[in-house]
Amino acid sequence: MSLPIQTNIAIVGAGPHALTLVTHLLQKREKYRHKITVFDPSGTWMSQWRQQFAAQEIPHLRSPAVHHPDPDPFSLRRFAENRPNELFPPYDLPGTKLFQEFSQDVVSRWQLEDKVYKASVTNIAPITYRGNPQFRVELDDGNSTIAR
Ligand SMILES: Cc1cc2nc3c(=O)[nH]c(=O)nc-3n(C[C@H](O)[C@H](O)[C@H](O)COP(=O)(O)OP(=O)(O)OC[C@H]3O[C@@H](n4cnc5c(N)ncnc54)[C@H](O)[C@@H]3O)c2cc1C
Repeated sequence: MSLPIQTNIAIVGAGPHALTLVTHLLQKREKYRHKITVFDPSGTWMSQWRQQFAAQEIPHLRSPAVHHPDPDPFSLRRFAENRPNELFPPYDLPGTKLFQEFSQDVVSRWQLEDKVYKASVTNIAPITYRGNPQFRVELDDGNSTIAR
């Protein structure tokens, strides 16, 4: 995505918590879609999560299948309908591959593929912009944007 000069909501990091936040915001207000910018050095969702789960060879999550980035608590269970072996006892803990593919499904269903700007946030500075208190979000690629 290209960097907007100004954004209403800047989200630092594109991990599972950021994805959860974005889907919940959009569920409440679809019009926020164009007011959100997500920053992550990978330029994609869940990159660090994927790498770290793979590096540690983590077989499944610790939380049951209702805890995931989609606002509908049952959507992961539906996604896993034909994959019962990937829900682990005792509380149907989602397997790592299942959770990863489900998260990708969340990204595409909510049309968030192009929401992540590839950069690290290096500083967030309080500023006054057009008379209002806002923030300058500074990036490691030398660019910056104003966030409300
Ligand atoms: C064995 C195991 C099982 C787990 N099971 C669960 C579970 O069932 N449920 C659960 O909720 N959690 C579970 N966790 C923990 C889970 O992995 C973390 O809670 C989750 O990854 C945190 O999500 P996050 O989005 O906050 O952070 P992260 O996944 O760490 O994502 C943060 C992102 O922010 C980016 N970032 C960091 N700094 C900057 C910056 N300055 N500028 C731009 N981007 C930046 C990073 O590159 C990264 O992509 C488990 C962990 C382990 C080890």
